[in-house]
Amino acid sequence: MARIFASLGIKKIRLTGGEPLLRHGVLDFVRELSKLRSEDGEELDLAMTTNGHLLTEMAQPLKDVGLDRITVSMDAVDPDRFARITRVPNGYDHVLAGIRASRHAGLWPIKVNCVLMRGFNEDQIIPFGMFAREEGVIVRFIEFMPLEEGRTWSPATVVALDEIVQRMAEYRPLVEIPHARSETARRYHFDDGVGEIGIIAPVSHPFCGHCSRIRITSDGKIRTCLFSVWDHDLHERMGRGASDEELVAFIRGVVERKEERHHIGEPDFVPASRTMVHIGG
Ligand code: SF4
Repeated sequence: MARIFASLGIKKIRLTGGEPLLRHGVLDFVRELSKLRSEDGEELDLAMTTNGHLLTEMAQPLKDVGLDRITVSMDAVDPDRFARITRVPNGYDHVLAGIRASRHAGLWPIKVNCVLMRGFNEDQIIPFGMFAREEGVIVRFIEFMPLEEGRTWSPATVVALDEIVQRMAEYRPLVEIPHARSETARRYHFDDGVGEIGIIAPVSHPFCGHCSRIRITSDGKIRTCLFSVWDHDLHERMGRGASDEELVAFIRGVVERKEERHHIGEPDFVPASRTMVHIGG
């Protein structure tokens, strides 16, 4: 699948989960991906999103087989809160050690993703700002979207971009820096130029018009939008021996019918057919 997508112009591949570091043979998988080239002959940009618990041991081997970058998902930066949320005693220390091991291995830049949810972790905004400066990582806050298992989303649960910027200013002001249109995150430095913060604001500032991502699930289905209400079965076609030309035609057809945008907060909103844990971000 990756070879065919690369031949169609895909330049970045991100492995997500569940938790990709739990996959047997993940190093061989990354090594195979790193041999692929994009249609213009360039190396692909290979990234992974992980919970970071196995990074201390895995960072260097991942770099050695060709991974370029890592993103760590963390919903708190306070050790006690982190333990309560993840239910892993001392988990924070392991993840922090993993982030440092990743930097040492040259997996760079390191991004830390935090989904903010009102009443759950919005008090972590300033601690995350301090963390970004101290650890030299890019912290990215993500507005909570209705993609969770428990269907607890409501507009009131969203901590929106403007509020994040305001709250952070109680610590230090943020200054916006230019970002490419296809980038999902708005980017900021602190006023002294130290530390980078990203804010991904699909609810308050939708960017669907510039969406250039395509997702493949672990069972080989294409999803053209996080909020798709159906999948497109690529694996089944490969299983019955479809040629590369047939697969390319199928992928092109699917992408041409891609959803225009999400409908979060609108009366006609229909929940996605898979929740985030089944899509992987
Ligand atoms: S089109 Fe779908 S996947 Fe793309 S940015 Fe909008 S909601 Fe996200």
